[in-house]
Amino acid sequence: MTSNDPPASPTAEAGHILPAAHFDALLTLLHEDGFDVRGPRVQGGALEIGKLPNAAALPQGCSATQEPGAWRLQHTGTPAWFGITHGGMSWKALLHPARTRLWSAERTADGFSVHEDAGPAKPFAFIGVRACDLRAIAVQDNVLQRGPYVDAVYNARRNGAFLVTVDCAEPSGTCFCVSMGSGPAAGSGYDLALTELDAGSASHRFLVRTGSRAGEAVVQRLGLCEATHQDSASAKAIVEGASARMGRSMDATAARATLSANRESPHWQDVAQRCLSCGNCTMVCPTCFCTTVEDTSDLSGDIAERWRLWDSCFTFGFTHVAGGTVRESAGARYRHWISHKLLNLHEQFDESGCVGCGRCITWCPVGIDITAEVAALPQDVS
Ligand code: SF4
Ligand code: SF4
Repeated sequence: MTSNDPPASPTAEAGHILPAAHFDALLTLLHEDGFDVRGPRVQGGALEIGKLPNAAALPQGCSATQEPGAWRLQHTGTPAWFGITHGGMSWKALLHPARTRLWSAERTADGFSVHEDAGPAKPFAFIGVRACDLRAIAVQDNVLQRGPYVDAVYNARRNGAFLVTVDCAEPSGTCFCVSMGSGPAAGSGYDLALTELDAGSASHRFLVRTGSRAGEAVVQRLGLCEATHQDSASAKAIVEGASARMGRSMDATAARATLSANRESPHWQDVAQRCLSCGNCTMVCPTCFCTTVEDTSDLSGDIAERWRLWDSCFTFGFTHVAGGTVRESAGARYRHWISHKLLNLHEQFDESGCVGCGRCITWCPVGIDITAEVAALPQDVS
């Protein structure tokens, strides 16, 4: 049974209830089933995705402010366990790692031997995937798993992964998932979808929706009670409230026409005056997938390794071919990146390459805002 198998039968109409006091039972079950359980954790003043031994490791009592060029952790004592939407790290770091050794070779008496690294020892279970990031995983599935060329590294890490999402109750100042149709409630592709209810009270609990047979089996084994229609209504109100408080917005349909009509706009030179070509936006973006390959050898010359590293279309050498670099200016590189996100992926995969997570805005050191840059282009494309 895999995460992709749909539920065998309709689940309880309103879902089920996981009391917060029993959250560890879910984590224990996943650990006992052999999963490498990962989730959000506060580390060094930032939010990382790390090993999740128990619910106490979650960022309970924390929130974060996000705005262009700034992410700040706050120990506000908010009762929510999932009060931070996300940090700079996304699940991409686990499924499509920033550094992967593809193979190593060692000199032997009669030539050399080649070793390939094995995939992860255990399948992943992700706890607390946000709706936008669930959609981003689907984008990477399409690129790395469902095309004519399957990426073996991604495939080995993605297959068998158990995904537990949490709907957002409080979007960040740079979120615009509603505009991109990717949140704040999880769409399809999860095993379990949670909505946190009444945090800080004695009835702190999670409404649980199942999205796969594997998720259904977990709910049955945990012996969860069926939710009431009042629980369901409370969860709906939380999601509707979050939808109404999005930090940003973008007309994604109009953006495609705007970008198509403005390939030569002088606005790209304006962006070039601000963009540092640092590549932060591509590193934090959960849908960016480009890589480069680097070969190394040790000083003796007996051992060689081939590594795959994340690359960025903002580097000068990204488009280097015989005769030079194709996209020489920062403006051309930004135009390429934003067009690939909002326009070209539609042509390639019939979907947006942007899920509205807002990370590129938050983690851009000069606060360049993808929604503002689209809005700044001439909108009259008739
Ligand atoms: S382009 Fe920006 S907002 Fe869109 S998915 Fe990437 S990081 Fe998130
Ligand atoms: S848009 Fe911002 S994050 Fe992206 S390369 Fe330019 S300065 Fe860096």
